[in-house]
Amino acid sequence: MKKYQILIRYGELSTKGRNRKLFIRKLKEHIVRVLRDLDGIGIRAERDRMFIQFEDETSMLAAKAQLPRVFGIQSFSPVVQVPKDIGGMKEEAIKLVASLKPEGKTFKTTVKRSDKSFPLETNELQREVGGFVLGHFSGLSVQMKKPDIDLHIEVRKEAAYMMAEIIPGAGGLPAGSNGKAVLMLSGGIDSPVAGHHMLRRGVELELIHFFSPPFTNERAKQKVLDLAEVLAASGTSLKLHIIPFTKLQQEVHRQVPDNVTMTSTRRMMLKIADRVRKETGAKAIVTGESLGQVASQTLESMEAINAVTATPVLRPLISMDKLEIISQANEIGTFDISIRPYEDCCTIFTPSNPKTKPRLEKVEYYESFLEAEGLIEEAVKNREVLEFPQKKDKKFTDLL
Ligand code: ATP
Ligand code: MG
Repeated sequence: MKKYQILIRYGELSTKGRNRKLFIRKLKEHIVRVLRDLDGIGIRAERDRMFIQFEDETSMLAAKAQLPRVFGIQSFSPVVQVPKDIGGMKEEAIKLVASLKPEGKTFKTTVKRSDKSFPLETNELQREVGGFVLGHFSGLSVQMKKPDIDLHIEVRKEAAYMMAEIIPGAGGLPAGSNGKAVLMLSGGIDSPVAGHHMLRRGVELELIHFFSPPFTNERAKQKVLDLAEVLAASGTSLKLHIIPFTKLQQEVHRQVPDNVTMTSTRRMMLKIADRVRKETGAKAIVTGESLGQVASQTLESMEAINAVTATPVLRPLISMDKLEIISQANEIGTFDISIRPYEDCCTIFTPSNPKTKPRLEKVEYYESFLEAEGLIEEAVKNREVLEFPQKKDKKFTDLL
């Protein structure tokens, strides 16, 4: 046993009987990936909680800063192991409470004593340590119901454990415990937020980005790489498929009338996304669409675009206002990347008057003049595939 540990509470996944093992395995995998830079950590997964052990306090504090990103964690607490001597416990209690800025806060001590040979009774230990802490911090007052600081002491056979902090986790389910989908990731504000929602719901993602050089440049591509890195910071691993889209986009603009190009381009994107999805074994396609936001996001447009596939298209942001989406993008750390001013392929080719109510028969008629099939195949075949997180570490596999 190491002195510094973190106790992790699972939350929702503990109610899922049969899949529990998969959930716990995925959660462990993600925690290990997020903490891959730390030396000498150990992880022990139990049925209803997990313990991470650290070499020293510094790595425990580093982990404490990373863990709130990992999906599937309800809450977690730093735990300190101390020898079973009352002086040592008091000293550690002071350190723990001091780290929580006790001035003006309420406080109690909760003791569990499973080692019955320990010389002090539960109540005595509670009074001893609690009284000592109260005497030490003049701004602290006792409150038995819902105090700000609840100092837990558990006396077990091998040692005593103390904790005073419960830190909320990201909730949700570990990505990969609920199947796989592909996310159509542009460089915009919406699609990374849509991806975050799916990851949080336990869906593993592969990312698809349409790239149209020379109309879109390397910096536009870099945005997408940076967005992928942020999504991977929750501990999941992601593949990004970069699809060369220029030829197909140009063919659409040659063959179909201006006000239908937007609908038709989207249909080509969805067809390609569906091929990649099939190859990767994913079950659904995710987009960042939100109803009525732009011409391609009316119900009529969605109907005409969606007609190219029977695969479920999931739109987690469909009912959200732009301001809500922006606020979430800020929270998850994608907003500043998304607003970098490099245009993506759609912005550049957007006609001035796209149809907001395209008719499917008309779109299909115009598309009959397209030489699309060969170009779609070529685009799928020539895609570039990158893996995230990009920084790998051999310690990662050793720990699993
Ligand atoms: P976003 O902020 O995600 O770019 P948006 O408001 O700009 O969305 P659109 O441009 O209509 O809306 O795109 C709708 C959805 O289509 C996007 O959320 C994304 O899922 C997908 N999409 C658009 N452009 C691309 C692209 N270049 N590569 C991959 N997916 C794309
Ligand atoms: Mg966009």
